[in-house]
Amino acid sequence: MIIAARPLQKSKAPTAAQVAKRSLALTGSQTKTIASLADRYLISLLNMKPNDVAKRVTRIMELCRAATQLTEQVSHFSIQGTAHNIALKEERHRILVDLNARLSKYKWTPVFSNSVTINSYFQITFVAGPNPVLVEPKPYGERIDFNTPEGAAFFENRAVQWIVRNIGKVHRVRRCHRLQCGKWFFAVTDHQKYCGDPCRKRDAEQGESFKEQRRNYMRVYRREEAERNEKATRLAKGKKK
Ligand SMILES: [Zn+2]
Repeated sequence: MIIAARPLQKSKAPTAAQVAKRSLALTGSQTKTIASLADRYLISLLNMKPNDVAKRVTRIMELCRAATQLTEQVSHFSIQGTAHNIALKEERHRILVDLNARLSKYKWTPVFSNSVTINSYFQITFVAGPNPVLVEPKPYGERIDFNTPEGAAFFENRAVQWIVRNIGKVHRVRRCHRLQCGKWFFAVTDHQKYCGDPCRKRDAEQGESFKEQRRNYMRVYRREEAERNEKATRLAKGKKK
């Protein structure tokens, strides 16, 4: 008799979150730099008052997050080969099509500019449309205004570029856990749920005051219950007499 013991199908492949965590851990000393760039290029735009640019970038961000979460679920060994797994993959495919359609509207031109970093004296950025240095040279040091069509396009492109270049870190771009806040932030640690200490403390305080209310309610409830029981006992005794 042959007993075919089916080996447990355990997936050795790390999840997307594990890979991303590792890539962030590798650059541990640079996490602050990554976070400050994310704040400047993406988070500040996501947290703007509602406008078309912020709306488009937010949608791309949400689709990236959804694709990441689906990939984590799809690769889980416990659902390999099930109908649920296929449904998740189909959902992810729909998201990828949607994402690619949205990204296809960005046409970028490489632009050479001065920018001293630890790696180089210059940087290559990718801007919307034709090269602005050639088309309309700007005076040195002029600030870019979001409230002009070119300015808005500049900020939108920069935010989308941050996303496509840092796709492994999108799971760190989150919304504050405190419902009354809901602001976007870049999580410096994997477990960070709040945009900052004030929101974390206020939620903790609210949790405490809820517990306090519940304790008071239970104290009153138990006292009233004891009184009801006592009354019932007294009545029962009275009837016996
Ligand atoms: Zn917050």
